[in-house]
Amino acid sequence: MIVCKVCKSKKIKLFVKIKNLIYWRCLLCKAVILDNQHYISESKEKKHYLKHNNNMKDQNYRKFLSKILIPLKSKISVNDFGLDYGCGYSPTLVDILRKDGFTVDFYDPFFFPNKQIFLKKYKFITCSEVVEHFIDPYKEFKKINNLLDNSAWFAVMTSFFNDDIIFENWYYRKDPTHIVFYNKKTFQIISQQNNWLYEFPTENIVLFKKK
Ligand SMILES: [Zn+2]
Repeated sequence: MIVCKVCKSKKIKLFVKIKNLIYWRCLLCKAVILDNQHYISESKEKKHYLKHNNNMKDQNYRKFLSKILIPLKSKISVNDFGLDYGCGYSPTLVDILRKDGFTVDFYDPFFFPNKQIFLKKYKFITCSEVVEHFIDPYKEFKKINNLLDNSAWFAVMTSFFNDDIIFENWYYRKDPTHIVFYNKKTFQIISQQNNWLYEFPTENIVLFKKK
C-alpha cells in the first residue's frame, strides 16, 4: 500500500502482521487497513453477507439498529427524504424508518444496485455496519457527499478501534470482509476532507452534518 485508502496520506506504516495477514496504519487519520492482497473475491463476499443472520423480524437486530436510529432521529423530521446506503439483502433499517413514517430509498452494491439513487439528493443517509467493508473509502465518502443535500445528516455505525483493544484478538477484525477499521481521529479527518461537521453521540456511532 502506498497511500492511505481513507485520507490519501502517504504517511502509512506497517501496523501488524497476523499469521499471513498484513495490516497498515495511517499516521495521519489512524485508520487500520488490511492489505489488498488479502481481500476476498466479490462472489465470496456476497456469499458471506448471505450468511449474516440480519433477519427483518429479529427483535435483537432491530434493537441493535436503534443505536444508530435514536441519535439520528433526534436530528431529522419525518418530512426528510433518506437513504440507507449498503442495506444488505434484508433492508431492516429501511423497514423501521418507513414504519416510523419516513420516506427512504435503499441501495446495496450486491443486492439492490439501484443506480437511480445517484441522481438524487437526500436529507439523511445511514451506513450501518457498512464502512468497514469499503474497498475505496476515500471515494465512497466522496460519493456519499454528493448524495447529501445541504444541511443533511450522515449517520455511521461501525465498531471503533482504539488502543485498548487487542487487535489480534478482536472479533471485529476476524471477519474476512472487514477491511478498514476507524477511530475518532479517522472520522475527524473524513469530516475535514468533506467539509462536514461531526459528533459522537454514543459508542460506535458518528453523525456527520454537511454544511
Ligand atoms: Zn489516513
